[in-house]
Amino acid sequence: MAAVKTRYTTVVGLEIHAELLTKTKLFCGCPNIFGKDENENVCPGCLGLPGTLPALNRAAVELAIKGGLALGCDITKMTSWDRKSYFYADLPNGYQITQMFAPICTGGGLDIGGRFIRLDHIHLEEDAGKLIHDNLRNATRIDFNRAGVPLIEIVTKPDMRSAEEAVAFIEKVRLALIYAGVCDGRMEQGRLRADANISVMPEGSETLGTRIEVKNLNSFRFVAMAIEHEAQRQIKVLEEGGSLRQETRRFIEGSGETAAMREKEDAHDYRYYPDADIPWLSLDDGYIDAVRASMPEAPDSRKARYTGAHRMSEADADTLLARKPVSDFYDSMVSLGADPKEALAIVRGEILRNIADIVDGPIPVSPEDAARLLRMGEAGEIGVNI
Ligand SMILES: [Zn+2]
Repeated sequence: MAAVKTRYTTVVGLEIHAELLTKTKLFCGCPNIFGKDENENVCPGCLGLPGTLPALNRAAVELAIKGGLALGCDITKMTSWDRKSYFYADLPNGYQITQMFAPICTGGGLDIGGRFIRLDHIHLEEDAGKLIHDNLRNATRIDFNRAGVPLIEIVTKPDMRSAEEAVAFIEKVRLALIYAGVCDGRMEQGRLRADANISVMPEGSETLGTRIEVKNLNSFRFVAMAIEHEAQRQIKVLEEGGSLRQETRRFIEGSGETAAMREKEDAHDYRYYPDADIPWLSLDDGYIDAVRASMPEAPDSRKARYTGAHRMSEADADTLLARKPVSDFYDSMVSLGADPKEALAIVRGEILRNIADIVDGPIPVSPEDAARLLRMGEAGEIGVNI
């Protein structure tokens, strides 16, 4: 009689890092702009020089709250700052200022196609610098432009059960943050990136397996590849009678495989302790309500409007919503009096088909002109092809 083969369930939790769209860094006045020359956006503060003190950026706090509200979180009234200690060349202070004990947002989550993925919390923290490995000179340079850039880390519960669910969740979080004006979502620039905590357990079991973290995944494709590969690797180890240990692995883009980096640290390894330089932050209800009132319309609400009052198909609604400038363009045309069906035809037929590179930049036609063209067509002043 053949042995019954164990079937496994993949379990995924995510830590999504989203850099905030502030003008300046989290604790100093240096510009938060991507793509500058190495070490152009630095000052004694973000270089960790002695005698400097951090001064909290109010705009970063507001964007972190908006991120939390966009993802259905509760906002923490008294939030505090902690130092996460580790030694690495791109971390000038020898510690990162983060929120371990009282993160700014808790709870919340998002529905992905009928499954609700819960968040544990969102904390606000500073990013580290970047190492640039120069193979030509056999040297490594350090760029501190990113050091001190504000980011939110969105930490989920281990609620996803496949690579597809993880990708769907990140896609939805990314859109929610873009529409809320919190983050530009540019994964290719590392401004949105994810770490995946992956484990496997026998189908039907409720006991989570050993969790292995794969760090720094900066595209949807890499997230999917890393999760699939890592789950298969873990299953193979278990099937061969081996055991897994908690560790951190990195994703190798060329092969799609993961490789061990280090044993996974626990919180105590980082010697978290309160940052004495930054006072606790007290947020009153009036302030939180004002931020809530300033929230733009969320993608889910736009979608309900498109598929409801505008009688759009779900696929068309998703196509428009995938690029905010396109959805904004359509909404402007409709608010200028264009018929939703005709506005959609213009956007789908002309804008999306003919203007290729409008992922982020402005659309080189104004909604006013597009709406006027439609009116001229209706009045018989011009033919459809013109
Ligand atoms: Zn600075």
